[in-house]
Amino acid sequence: MKEIILVKYGEMALKGLNKNTFEDIIVKNIKRRLKSVGKFICSKSQSTIYIEPDDENFRLDDAVEKLKNVFGIAALCRACTCEKDFGDICTKSNDYLQEVLTNAKTFKVTSKRADKAFPMKSPEICTELGAFLLEKFPHLKVDVQNPEITVTVEIRDKNAFVHAENIKGAGGLPVGSSGNAMLLLSGGIDSPVAGYMMAKRGIHISAIHYVSPPYTSERARLKVEQLCEKITDYCGNIAFFCVPFTELQEAIKKNCPEEYFTIIMRRLMMEIAQRISEKYECMALITGESVGQVASQTMQAIACTDAVCRIPVFRPLIGMDKTEIIEISRKIDTFDISTLPYEDCCTVFTPRHPRVHPHLEEVEKAQNKFDFEPLIAEAVEKTEMKVFEFEA
Ligand code: ATP
Ligand code: MG
Repeated sequence: MKEIILVKYGEMALKGLNKNTFEDIIVKNIKRRLKSVGKFICSKSQSTIYIEPDDENFRLDDAVEKLKNVFGIAALCRACTCEKDFGDICTKSNDYLQEVLTNAKTFKVTSKRADKAFPMKSPEICTELGAFLLEKFPHLKVDVQNPEITVTVEIRDKNAFVHAENIKGAGGLPVGSSGNAMLLLSGGIDSPVAGYMMAKRGIHISAIHYVSPPYTSERARLKVEQLCEKITDYCGNIAFFCVPFTELQEAIKKNCPEEYFTIIMRRLMMEIAQRISEKYECMALITGESVGQVASQTMQAIACTDAVCRIPVFRPLIGMDKTEIIEISRKIDTFDISTLPYEDCCTVFTPRHPRVHPHLEEVEKAQNKFDFEPLIAEAVEKTEMKVFEFEA
């Protein structure tokens, strides 16, 4: 019996987007994801992508697991390939669905007849196959409203397919279909989740991280790299930029009023992120901020940070509670890494009494006490880049 995987992408997602580009990107992403699970043929027709094993060693279970993380996939299912012959459809349904139908109490049959030349019409296929299966599995009852199992028969151009399970996909849009953005990635819980959420909307992310040795350790940087590597499961390859931030932070400490340390630091972070974004064609910045979480995340503080931004800043967690963010971080498996102990450059020179509701003019005045430009240029110059590739 030949088993294949059918991948369905959300029709809704295609609205306003170029359908062909969307399909090309999702097929490319799928092919790259499945590189290591064996040989297969990937084709598309009628808003479905077919993944057919091309040798016996193809690991279908692993393929399904990997596909669950691919954005743009609404649902996927394993299906059995049949001849376009009703007799074969009945036999294969019986064999292929043996276990699920034995364990179920109720079922129904649905049919999609894409090939209108097939001699039986959909309602007929459903009634006939339903009757056949009832005979084979006499304990079953038909429940059209709320069946435990829905047996689906699809009559396509070359073959027919039978399947009974629908596995929920990751949803969203295929990574790369919405352009590139730069994620400010710290070692905390929030920013990896923010990156995941924007990747879900089709954005291909790069990541930027600021380090302040010797105040922050090598271990802290490695932790962030570990997070970056982890989110490649969903985000695909990520270019990771590591910015030396010590001199800038020391300059802030030496030259600016203490109550504005954090806000000025954040403005400098944004400035550097934008310059690197320009170089690498990222069209927006992404942060893990959420209103009111810390002093630098009040509306006034965010306004002061945004005042230096020339490109949009996406803050997908802005209205979320910490508990909701943690839930996602557990789901994407970053929580355990994020909660390892570490120092972040943000916590190095934390003011004792930060201004919670800063005014822009005052922040600008405080920042203008020193000419940061040469240090900014130097930090950009000394930024190191490496690429984290997802594991196929
Ligand atoms: P997180 O859990 O993501 O660290 P947080 O609640 O600790 O967030 P802050 O430390 O104020 O909040 O940081 C807010 C945002 O600024 C982070 O979500 C991240 O996007 C960015 N950020 C903070 N520190 C760094 C850093 N060292 N390198 C890069 N980005 C950072
Ligand atoms: Mg943090």
